[in-house]
Amino acid sequence: MNEKSENLLAGDEPAPVTVDNPDGQSPFLLVADHAGNAIPRALGTLGVAEAERVRHIAWDIGIAGVGRLLAHALDAPFIRQNYSRLVIDCNRPPGTPTSIAEISEHTPIPGNVDLSEANREARARQIFWPYHERIEAELERRRQAGRPAVLISLHSFTPVFKGVARPWHAAVLYNRDPRLAGRLKALLNAEREFTIGDNAPYAVTDATDYTIPVHAERRRLDHVLIEIRQDLIADESGQRAWSGRLARLLPQAYRELVPG
Ligand SMILES: [Zn+2]
Repeated sequence: MNEKSENLLAGDEPAPVTVDNPDGQSPFLLVADHAGNAIPRALGTLGVAEAERVRHIAWDIGIAGVGRLLAHALDAPFIRQNYSRLVIDCNRPPGTPTSIAEISEHTPIPGNVDLSEANREARARQIFWPYHERIEAELERRRQAGRPAVLISLHSFTPVFKGVARPWHAAVLYNRDPRLAGRLKALLNAEREFTIGDNAPYAVTDATDYTIPVHAERRRLDHVLIEIRQDLIADESGQRAWSGRLARLLPQAYRELVPG
């Protein structure tokens, strides 16, 4: 390992966070913790073959495209992380075992083994925190302006995990507050085309999640985490279909929650 803890990102590398449509006026704020699969040059390939670095273990395939289209359709800001979850997972509390994973599904990540505390801290400081500070700033800006904020956390999941095929097309996830998730799930079920997971294939918890517990629950914001199966949004036509559907159903679900 030749990891420099001081400057993980060179000046010509992508910023950790990108904001699309930053002045969007919608109550909705879209975020994607796993939108990109970049790896800082200073980390090389993390010892992971290229075929693995484009798989779901590295990022949420298709979700950046869905988010950009949805941001445009809703007139909402979309804050997304550009670096791979293999560098540091932006939906895990820093310091927890899966924050910087040594194995993902069946793939070892040699560049994440035996990291020094300084190297862990550099990844958190230069990738994790700028992303979450940007979300925090937008939420704080809205609070001070008396504007509502509804946090929509966008993810995608692999159709097959550890050899097991998953039956869901999409899913709603939540932790303590199931209200918006429940309404969106009912509306998706009413389309009669889909099998919708309810806190499946994953559930939101304080131990395994950061974005919903910290940004939405602590501020008592209306929110939902949406997971879409990756093969359904791998190309632009799929991304258009799912962003169009969510642009139609999310405002409806929110109106049911906050009448008037
Ligand atoms: Zn994800």
